[in-house]
Amino acid sequence: MIDLHTHSTASDGTLSPADLVLQASKAGVTALALTDHDCVAGIAEAQLAADKNDIKLIPGIELSVMWSGRTLHLLGLNIDTSNSDLTIALQKVLDFRRWRAKEIARKLEDIGVENALDGARKMARTDLIGRSHFARHLVEQGHAKDFRQVFKRFLVKGKPGHVRGEWMSLEAGINLIHQSSGVAVLAHPARYNLSRTKLRSLFKELKTLGADGIEVVSGCHSKDENQTMAQHALDFGFPASQGSDYHGPDKPWVQLGRLPPMHYRCTPIWEAGLKIS
Ligand code: AMP
Ligand code: MN
Ligand code: MN
Ligand code: MN
Repeated sequence: MIDLHTHSTASDGTLSPADLVLQASKAGVTALALTDHDCVAGIAEAQLAADKNDIKLIPGIELSVMWSGRTLHLLGLNIDTSNSDLTIALQKVLDFRRWRAKEIARKLEDIGVENALDGARKMARTDLIGRSHFARHLVEQGHAKDFRQVFKRFLVKGKPGHVRGEWMSLEAGINLIHQSSGVAVLAHPARYNLSRTKLRSLFKELKTLGADGIEVVSGCHSKDENQTMAQHALDFGFPASQGSDYHGPDKPWVQLGRLPPMHYRCTPIWEAGLKIS
């Protein structure tokens, strides 16, 4: 059982890296990638837990990148977390996130939401603040009934708490992952609201830029979307990745390692560029 996309408290997951690994091991996962947003701070703790629980840990990351004016997510799998280019680039992203958090709080204040920055900081276990931390605070304060609603009403484009992403380019992200000896995979391609034409132009560009694969089976795709992405992977000759995008037990419909089977004609990324052993 292979799960190549998960989050811990090092970004916006709710389990500590050690607990995540333990739960994955209990669920029967044999190889697990920890892919926190723009951050590798959880990897060392996860590695220790993996050694104790006889599970293979793949050091990973989910980079926020820009393409054609939008934010995309790029997975880096099997990265060397000590790479100095990576360390420098991630510090810049952390600085942007810090600034963005203040901006989000300021904008929310304009519509009468008080102390959102303090609230989000309390939800985050580290100094990496994401929209999920704001979302949890806003739900707790009764500004929306659940996580979905809070994004829809406050945190997405066109809504009062939205701040435009200023992440590295897709090209820079792929190069950074390669410099860190990792494998670059486009995360959850069906989650960007791209038309079929636009999505195919993205895949074409990913090919040109040397990306190593696309996430075909995702915990945040429908079964139909998995099938569609399998077809795109075959059309473009991309190896296929799979991951739950697990963020914690509070979303019980997403479980560690529980994924529908990948299309039989796809080449799994662990039989192409990614070493798991
Ligand atoms: P950030 O990188 O700080 O902009 O936050 C992105 C994260 O917010 C994603 O990885 C999800 O965990 C969460 N997220 C984004 N959009 C939504 C949404 N519409 N509903 C629920 N969670 C979302
Ligand atoms: Mn997330
Ligand atoms: Mn993502
Ligand atoms: Mn994710």
